[in-house]
Amino acid sequence: MNIAIDGPAGAGKSTIARRVAAVRGVVYVDTGAMYRAMALLMIKKGIDPQDSAAIEAASEKADIGIEYRDGEQRVLLNGEDVTGELRTEAVAAMASTTSANAEVRRKLVLLQQELAKKTDVVMDGRDIGTVVLPDAEVKIYLTASSRARAERRYLETVQKAAPGEEIPSIEEISRKIEERDYQDMHRENSPLRKAEGAYLVDSSDMTIQEVVDRILEICEEVSNK
Ligand code: C5P
Repeated sequence: MNIAIDGPAGAGKSTIARRVAAVRGVVYVDTGAMYRAMALLMIKKGIDPQDSAAIEAASEKADIGIEYRDGEQRVLLNGEDVTGELRTEAVAAMASTTSANAEVRRKLVLLQQELAKKTDVVMDGRDIGTVVLPDAEVKIYLTASSRARAERRYLETVQKAAPGEEIPSIEEISRKIEERDYQDMHRENSPLRKAEGAYLVDSSDMTIQEVVDRILEICEEVSNK
């Protein structure tokens, strides 16, 4: 059984997808990390996010690979493990722009489909149920209010911050999340939307475990059909 989880930034997709995959004993594929690796490459090369020809040329040459070490996904960019460099706001913002590029998407979608051919997966992203795995047995659209998502990101930032590090306000985080949602939902290529047949799960007032349990329950319902 393949499980596709789509939704906006900060809805808790990766934490939840990872737990669902662990319970079901299947591989978790974080597709956002692949778009982030491609974005990191553009940052390192100093490419202007509006220069689509340069983005296309760089992405054609780029070698993005996925490996699993101790069950954790690692992303390799031209052979180098860049997993630890992907979770910054600068990379997220660049990823939201470069992921609109058709060549970037073509390349990463192929890689994602190859991974899902080899083994059962829980895959999360923006276009998994609509484009990457339209035949996935279970499709989930996981969302939450932008306020709830901003509050979660704020808490995460506070927990991870180094002593003395400046922490953005909830309002600032919320504004960035809304900007990213807008770009992801209004792009021409594979915009974020609920796939046909996807179950809507709104996690605004749910704990992580409640969301995990709800998705596992949906998997059971689908298996018993
Ligand atoms: O999920 P995450 O925040 O890591 O994704 C970073 C960015 O990558 C998103 O804002 C989105 O623009 C892009 N993305 C995408 N399609 C996916 C996964 C991520 O366009 N399947």
